[in-house]
Order: sequence, then structure tokens, then C-alpha cells
Amino acid sequence: MSAEQVIIVGSGPAGWSAAIYAARAELKPLVFEGAITEENRLAGTLPLGQLALTTEVENYAGFPAGDLKRFLETAISPERLKYLLIHEEKHAVTGPELMELMRQQAMNFGTRVVTDDVVKVDLQRRPFIIQTREGTTHETHTLILATGARANYLGLPSEEAYKNRGVSACAVCDGALPRFRNKPLVVVGGGDSAVEEATYLSKYASNVHVVHRRDKLRASMIMQERALANPKIQMEWNQTLDEVTGNDAEGVTGVRLGSTTGGRDRELPASGVFLAIGHTPNTGLVKGQVELTEKGYVRWTKPFRTHTSVEGVFAAGDVADDYYRQAITSAGTGCMAALDAERWLAAKGIH
Ligand code: NAP
Repeated sequence: MSAEQVIIVGSGPAGWSAAIYAARAELKPLVFEGAITEENRLAGTLPLGQLALTTEVENYAGFPAGDLKRFLETAISPERLKYLLIHEEKHAVTGPELMELMRQQAMNFGTRVVTDDVVKVDLQRRPFIIQTREGTTHETHTLILATGARANYLGLPSEEAYKNRGVSACAVCDGALPRFRNKPLVVVGGGDSAVEEATYLSKYASNVHVVHRRDKLRASMIMQERALANPKIQMEWNQTLDEVTGNDAEGVTGVRLGSTTGGRDRELPASGVFLAIGHTPNTGLVKGQVELTEKGYVRWTKPFRTHTSVEGVFAAGDVADDYYRQAITSAGTGCMAALDAERWLAAKGIH
């Protein structure tokens, strides 16, 4: 087995941008994009990352709203095009479209893509050893971690009991299901994800209650304004989701809300509950081998570099970023990681 120059784990904007740069530097990157399994679907760790779970991306520079149909049809290979639901109308690029474009761009420069999970890495020896769920083993001189983050849940037993039967952390994946049509729905959270999910769900629901533990949103102003002006969205300030109620036959039928300001508990009917309370970085693969921050993110050990505590291991995107967490910053750090890996290989004289 000859060692790879660069292996990239993860297939969001960080992974693909790293791959584009590494491929153009002739490092012949191998990307493990993740496996398409029910387990990954439930955990929110399917290939193409969190952007694949969003709608329009209005803030990714270079994509003003326009007629993207023809561009997408000519840029993306036919066998991948079928995964996209291309909008006929003028629109800014959607998350899934952006990810397919990045994947295609990486492949156009010779990136090899494996649709499998990396389940084990050995960073104690060199070259590093990588093992996949399907049982293949690979060696690599450098590793770029771009495994992203996944949605959080509150951890209520009732939430767990109704997962997949009305409880979800992804409005875009599940919102259009018949069980949510013309029914009241609940979104928990006060950030961009919460207002984005509420706005999206308002297209299908009779009304959407946004349950937030404070009386102020942290979402960006433009998204807040849009949600607050939406007649189908109702803010439930200073409240917490304390219990999801339901039964075996129907799944979720309502919620019990507690007050954070000493008020009384309330019950609301709802056929769906969508959690939008932040994310946890996907660091399980390297825990104990690579230094993490107090918040559990991979630690960048040099200012404005993507180096980690293990020489030859670089991190990009949400797995190492608890602050910006934007598609464009992830893509930026992906580029940085590829350049850092390229320079590290050159300094070690590894070709
Ligand atoms: P976030 O900004 O961290 O917001 C999480 C929200 O959940 C906060 O309002 C927080 O309340 C609440 N929360 C956290 N833990 C909770 C708990 N245990 N119980 C009740 N509420 C809880 O996360 P996000 O909305 O997923 O956004 C993450 C990043 O992605 C941000 O940088 C955001 O700008 C970006 N993003 C951008 C877009 C877009 O631009 N289109 C869309 C989605 C996300 P507090 O406010 O009280 O802390």
C-alpha cells in the first residue's frame, strides 16, 4: 500500500474547497465524503454536510439570485444532477446545489471520492492509518479534518421517544412531510437556524411557534425581521420546551412549555417539534489523539493557520470553528488547510 499525500475527511464546503486546492496542487486528494446510512441521517452527518440540509444560501458571495437552471444542468454530471431538485424560478444558490457544484469542481480536478465513513484513525504512527466502515485501510502523510458539526437535541426522554415521529432537527429534510401540512408546529431556538426553519416551515404549517428561552433573538437582523413580519410565525418568548406530548398512533400531538420568568406552564397542540439549538462538532474520530478546545472543537494551534496539535493533521470548517460557522468561512479554512498541508509536505520533502 503506498501512502496518500492528503486524505480529507468530510464533504461540506471545507472538505471540497480543501480538495479543489489539493487537487490543483497535484496532491491527488482522496476524500471520504461519508456513508449514506440511516444512522448518519438520524445523526445529521450525511454526505455534503449541513448545507445539504438548508434552503437558499443568500450570503455566499458570487451567487446573487438568478436563473441557475442552465448553469447547474451544464456544470453537474447527469448522474449527480438527479439528486437535485432544481428550482425553475430565479433564486440564489441552494445549499444542496452549492455542495453538488463544489463536489463536481473537486472531481473535475482529479479528486477521488469515496462514499464511506472513516471510523478509525491512527495518528501515532507515520504515515497515518485510516480505516473505513466498509473495512478498507489507507495510509496518508497528511490528514485534513473537515467533519463539521451536527445538530443538538435537548436530551428530553420525550424528545427521544418521538424522534422521526414528529421530532426533527432538520426542517428542510422533514418539513414537507404530510404529517406537518396545515398543522401547528414548534421550533425551539433563537438563532439563525431557528428563524430560518420557522420561515421555511411556515410555507407548510398552519402556524409556527418559535420557543425561545430569552426575549431577544440572536439571529441576524435580516432573518429576524423576515420571521417577525411573517403572520404565521408566533414568538413564544422566555419559554422552554419541557416535554413533547403524543401517543403511539399519531406521534407528536403537542408540547408542554415552561416559563423562564416564573410564569405558568403552558400546553400547545403541535404535530411537529423542530430543534434548532446549536451544534456539536464531529470530533469523535480524533478524540484523545488531537487536542480539542474547552468547547470540544479541534484546536488550531497556530494563529491564522489550520495546524492542529498533531503535525501533518489540519482542520477546517465547523469542526474547528465555534465562532463564524458560515459556508464561506468553512470554504476559506478548507483552502487554508490544503495550502498548509501542501507546504508541510514540501517542507518534509514528501512527494
Ligand atoms: P446558535 O446561533 O448557536 O443559536 C442557538 C440558539 O439555541 C440560541 O438562540 C440559544 O439560545 C438556543 N439554545 C441553545 N441551547 C439551548 C437549550 N439547551 N435550550 C433552549 N435553547 C437553547 O446556532 P444556529 O442558529 O444553529 O446558528 C449557528 C451558526 O450558523 C451561526 O453562526 C449562524 O449565523 C449560522 N447560520 C446562518 C444561517 C444563514 O445565514 N442563512 C442559517 C443558519 C445558521 P440563546 O440565544 O439564549 O443562547
